[in-house]
This record gives sequence, structure tokens and C-alpha cells, in this order.
Amino acid sequence: MTFYEITPQDHELIRAALETLSKNFDDGIYHHTVGAALRTAEGRVYTGVNCDGIHGSCAEYVVMGTAISAGERAFDTIVAVHEKARNCLLAPCGNCRQMLVEYCPDIKVILNDDEGKLIKAKATDLLPFFWRPVDCSEATGDAEQP
Ligand SMILES: [Zn+2]
Repeated sequence: MTFYEITPQDHELIRAALETLSKNFDDGIYHHTVGAALRTAEGRVYTGVNCDGIHGSCAEYVVMGTAISAGERAFDTIVAVHEKARNCLLAPCGNCRQMLVEYCPDIKVILNDDEGKLIKAKATDLLPFFWRPVDCSEATGDAEQP
């Protein structure tokens, strides 16, 4: 796995996510409000928080939807934060990792390593053997059945 240097812009991204988190409420039911910030390839920053509920949406999904809705298509780095998490950073859940790989396999994610050191890695490195849709154009029909 390749790790990328944590830059001053990455620290700004973390601060942007924390600022968004501080401006938004915890509804008192789930006690798990998460903030996220996404930097585009051109350096624009979008932020968001999760939406709680029985089928809630992670902050990474919310911020990605916001950026895509604004017409963004090229992404550089994403981070998710929670004020009580180690270094205030949360690793993306498996569902978000899959979403990131599908939308932007080269996006980098800021998170903690097992010792609590800030690291930045590509989404594809965080989800080995990720799911991919079947490419029916390559189907030969002669595959052996298991
Ligand atoms: Zn998630």
C-alpha cells in the first residue's frame, strides 16, 4: 500500500470537516454525527454531515452527492471526522469504500493507522478485491461452472 504525504491542504480539509461538524446538530437519538470534507482535483472543498435514520447515509455519501450535484467529477482527497474519535478521524465504512472506489478509484483518504498516526492512502488500497460489475461484453459463455 502506498501512503501519501499529509500536506497543509490536508490539515485544512480536516479543519473544514470539523467546522461543518461543529455547525451541525446531533439529533440526540443516534449520537453519531459525522462530518466529511472532500477536495476536488482543482482544489475546491465540499463538506457535509451524515443523515441519521434507519437507512441513514454516511457523511462521505452526503459530501460526494453534494459535490457531484455541483458538477464535480474529479476528486483528490476525502476525510471524515467525529469529535470523539482518535485524532478526530474516522475511517470510511465498507459501504463508503466501495462507493469511493466506484466513483473515483484514485481518490485518497485521510485516516489513522493502527498506532494513531495520520496516513493518506488510495481508496482502492483500502478495499482489496472490491466488487466490480460484470462486464458482459467479455462474457464467453464457456466458463466452467463451479
Ligand atoms: Zn460509510
